[in-house]
Amino acid sequence: MARYHDAVCRLCRREGEKLFLKGARCLTDKCAIERRQFAPGQHGQNMRRKISAYGLQLREKQKIRRLYGVLETQFHNYFEKADAKTGITGENLVQFLECRLDNIVYRLGFAASRKQARQLVRHRHILVNGHVVDIPSYQVKPQEVIRVKDKSKNLEQIHASLKLGHGGDIAWLRLNKAALEGELLAVPQRSEVPLTANEQLVVELYSK
Ligand code: SF4
Repeated sequence: MARYHDAVCRLCRREGEKLFLKGARCLTDKCAIERRQFAPGQHGQNMRRKISAYGLQLREKQKIRRLYGVLETQFHNYFEKADAKTGITGENLVQFLECRLDNIVYRLGFAASRKQARQLVRHRHILVNGHVVDIPSYQVKPQEVIRVKDKSKNLEQIHASLKLGHGGDIAWLRLNKAALEGELLAVPQRSEVPLTANEQLVVELYSK
C-alpha cells in the first residue's frame, strides 16, 4: 500500500501544529515545530495568503487524516460509514478513527506514535481478546481486551514508550501497565477525545 515517505515533520509544519508522528522526538525541543514555526518550502516564511473556506476545510481534513495516518481512500470510506450511521456524522467519523486498533495501542501508551503502533500490530505483537490481530484498521469494540503478546513483553520499544507517559490516562480506556493490557470501556464521546480539530469542516468538504 502507498505510504507517505517524505520527512514527516514537514506535515506538521504544513498544518502549523504538532501531529505527533515521530514518537519520542515530538516531546522534546528537537521537534521541528518548536524550532521552525512556519510552513515548509522556499516561501514558507513569507506565506500570508488569505485562506478560502474550501482551503480551510481541506487543511482540516488533511490534518485529521495525517494525524491518524490514514490514506485518502480509506479516510473517505470512514466518512461514508460515518454519514450512513445514525448520529452526528463528524462525531461518528472521530469515533471510527479512535477505535482503530493502532490508535488504541498508541493511546494505551504501548507505542510512541501511531506509526509505531501500526508496526506493532502488523508484526503480530498485539492480541485482541487473546487472538492475534495484525490489521491496524481493526475496529475495537467495547469490552475487548488489547494485550501485548507474552513473547513480545520484553520489547524495548514498548517499555521506552510507556516511560514517555503519554498514554493511559484516558476515560474510555482501562490500562494495566504491569500486564501490558488495556480494555476499551466504551466508544468515546467526542468531548472525551483529545483531538484539536474541527471535524465539521471535513463533513462540509465531503458534502459538497
Ligand atoms: Fe511533528 Fe513530531 Fe516532527 Fe514535531 S517532531 S514536527 S510533532 S513529527
